[in-house]
Amino acid sequence: MATYKFAKVPSSGERITYQAGVLGVPNNPIIPYVEGDGTGADIWRASVRVFDAAIEKAYGSERRVAWMEVFAGEKAFTQFQDWLPQETVDAMQEFRVSIKGPLTTPVGGGIRSLNVTLRQVLDLYACIRPVRYFEGVGSPMKEPERLNIVVYRENTEDVYAGIEWKAGSAEAEKLRLFIERELGKEIRPDSAIGVKPMSAFGSKRLVDMAIRYALKHCLPSVTLMHKGNIMKFTEGAFRDWGYEVARDKFAGSVVAEADLAKGGSAARADAVIIKDRIADSMFQQLLLRPDEYSVIATPNLNGDYVSDAAAAQVGGLGIAPGGNVGDGVAVFEATHGTAPKYANLDKINPGSVILSGVMMFEYLGWTEAATLIVRGLENAIKSRRVTYDLARQMPGATEVSTSAFGDQIINGMTG
Ligand code: NAP
Repeated sequence: MATYKFAKVPSSGERITYQAGVLGVPNNPIIPYVEGDGTGADIWRASVRVFDAAIEKAYGSERRVAWMEVFAGEKAFTQFQDWLPQETVDAMQEFRVSIKGPLTTPVGGGIRSLNVTLRQVLDLYACIRPVRYFEGVGSPMKEPERLNIVVYRENTEDVYAGIEWKAGSAEAEKLRLFIERELGKEIRPDSAIGVKPMSAFGSKRLVDMAIRYALKHCLPSVTLMHKGNIMKFTEGAFRDWGYEVARDKFAGSVVAEADLAKGGSAARADAVIIKDRIADSMFQQLLLRPDEYSVIATPNLNGDYVSDAAAAQVGGLGIAPGGNVGDGVAVFEATHGTAPKYANLDKINPGSVILSGVMMFEYLGWTEAATLIVRGLENAIKSRRVTYDLARQMPGATEVSTSAFGDQIINGMTG
């Protein structure tokens, strides 16, 4: 067990355990949280009230979360001169399930992304982002309810691995010359160079998790989204490895779309269909034929883009949740960033972190609390008293603050 200098381990809680692939969740789990930068504090204040209210309503005094604040980002740097104290990573590992707000990442220099670091250090290899429509939310689409997908984005590899060198640096020049002399490929001398590693191991375990999810939830298909027509040995291999996993581990439960078209398949009638689509076409498909897609498994960068775009189709980042999940360790977080211009205005939509909490409670097996929160949010939206982002897309709606929207959600937890 780690020792904690900045965080306090709540004496009222117990640790979540993990044995033989199964989580052991006590009635009073200790769950670390990072408030987050920018609008993080406003959002967390509203979210934690919603979480506690749902648990109390679902389980009375039988269950309760012992929240443990851990520090990262600007708050950690201001208070402890450390952007990401090691003990925060230790807590996320030790207590197994945690939730975090957004953290600032400077563009083009400065510190590396803390989010990316956490995903890599904790080996949270799948970034899971469900995108669905909530009735009443304004959307740029005519029929936004036709989109209901879960994106499984590989979370540790690809150009996101952070292996890159500045143009003009000694490292970039060394690599350029090596590639030119040893491998016979030319790169312009003033180039920055990034590396895009994608392994069979990393790709296969991601696709494996996506297929297991589709089977567990009786979903119709898993689509491998890739840019393998151009990046043949990375993205193309992702597709091939995906089909390999499907064939080797799920034979009989899945069927490749191409085999189905040929009519020759031994898979059962309710088999999950494995499709593949080229990334650029996938964006069109989600706009034009959204109901043909269910689970999407994709490399890191594609996954980042497609989950934001899909979130916009159903009403925006304010209701776009996410979870970073590995084997026995998970960190839940919203898809959006710190939205700094709204910091401390009690204005921003807390919905994404609240729905990330729903994913967290489902992961813990606390489905009753998760269902209550979803119902609360649905009813809050139906009441048309919503935060600015939703209000501006819903004619006649009343704009309310972050905290008031949290109250609306709590009041909406009926049944
Ligand atoms: P952003 O913080 O996601 O904000 C972009 C815009 O999205 C906002 O101006 C706002 O749109 C809308 N938005 C975001 N969150 C919302 C919410 N909760 N409710 C309603 N609308 C919301 O993206 P950014 O400005 O590009 O990034 C700011 C910082 O966050 C950067 O340092 C970036 O690196 C970081 N970031 C962190 C994470 C993470 O921690 N996981 C993820 C992404 C970005 P309007 O202006 O139209 O109201």
